[in-house]
Amino acid sequence: MDYTHSVSLDRDKCKGCTNCLKRCPTEAIRISNGHAKINSLYCIDCGECIRVCQYKAKRAIFDKLSELPKDKYLIALPAPTLFGQFNQLDDADYVVQGLLDIGFNDVYEVAKAAEISTELTRRYLKKSGLNKPVISSACPVIVRLIKLRFPTLSRHLIPILPPIEIAGKYARRKALAEHPELSPEDICTVFISPCPAKVSWVKSVIEGQEIYVDRVVSISEVYMQLISKMNRANIPEAASQAGNIGISWASTGGESAALMNDRYLAADGIENVIKVLDEIETGNISDCDFVELNACSGGCVGGVMAVENPYIARVKLQSLRRFLPISRNHVPLEDGMPEDYVPEELMDAAPFTYMPTGAGTDRLTSMRILMEAKRIEDGLPHTDCGACGSPTCRAFAYDVASGSAHIDDCVVRMREKLHALLEQRKGDS
Ligand code: SF4
Ligand code: SF4
Repeated sequence: MDYTHSVSLDRDKCKGCTNCLKRCPTEAIRISNGHAKINSLYCIDCGECIRVCQYKAKRAIFDKLSELPKDKYLIALPAPTLFGQFNQLDDADYVVQGLLDIGFNDVYEVAKAAEISTELTRRYLKKSGLNKPVISSACPVIVRLIKLRFPTLSRHLIPILPPIEIAGKYARRKALAEHPELSPEDICTVFISPCPAKVSWVKSVIEGQEIYVDRVVSISEVYMQLISKMNRANIPEAASQAGNIGISWASTGGESAALMNDRYLAADGIENVIKVLDEIETGNISDCDFVELNACSGGCVGGVMAVENPYIARVKLQSLRRFLPISRNHVPLEDGMPEDYVPEELMDAAPFTYMPTGAGTDRLTSMRILMEAKRIEDGLPHTDCGACGSPTCRAFAYDVASGSAHIDDCVVRMREKLHALLEQRKGDS
């Protein structure tokens, strides 16, 4: 399967300043010939490099509203974060109506699907024999990070489709039931996203997997359209179907608090997330049932494609939630998990299997490269200066061992060599 990334570099704008090099959590960036380069094998589409690049050389790729197929039945799937972008919003129906007014044929809130997901999670946590703590699989960056840096934790990921997929699936089903004249090909589901990672998710579906979300547009673009269309003077028809629980998924802690189980941990920001995963891997977090991890600070409200400051968006959502019932969506109680949400094979399929990662193409090659990298690293200055174009001396050693850099690219080492040579010449003369 080819993994399609949603974060890209505009080489002409890049000044090679190394800001992104130092902040990339997976060391996926190198500076070569004065420009940044992303190694797609290691990029998890977290968007950190977009945040830190002051020259706007990194950008997220997503669909434009103007490019949506006008001849299809367009269903908007707004992320809960969208509702946190507006001032004094006391009724989610204004947003739902606004989406219809800007051209969508129907709206299926992802917050509604999040409530379904909450109920499935509660039920899943009651099963015996689980790898605890169970880790949420709602944030695609976290899933890819685990696959890349913490593969032993893969079996802790909860095998439940993320709310965007549940929303896409049920939105399609509803449209086909309400409009018998439509065929599945006539429908286009459009996720309104706060972050680029969701774009990668949708575009990187593995062969044979059913796709429920067709397009991804940014919250920032939709927000601009909505602001001019939303009319607060007219009271909209009651159309929103999400409750307090679904909307609370937009910020950190919302997903786990909704489980009504005190034995949870919620963390956000990629550096904090890595620390928590380290702790789980070393067995230091054992008295916990569920871990919610969000790559962006503040949760999805902190996505680079949102408009509002994440902390202000959180406050705005808190005000909106005061007007909402606890939950509006329930899954009929059955024994076990509904098969359509948690197919058995999901653990070995997307999103749980991404591009193969690791040092080499096979175990032996990987071991050889890693051993060689260790040997090279021992001879490096450990200053992590970045002058070689790699983020750390350890990463540089790995680059040399795998053949993508030359040991003489280390300027500190070269300077020391030159100095030693000059000293030797002085001694000879
Ligand atoms: S932050 Fe990265 S992409 Fe932006 S100018 Fe600096 S090196 Fe280039
Ligand atoms: S999106 Fe994240 S993982 Fe990918 S290159 Fe940028 S900082 Fe690194």
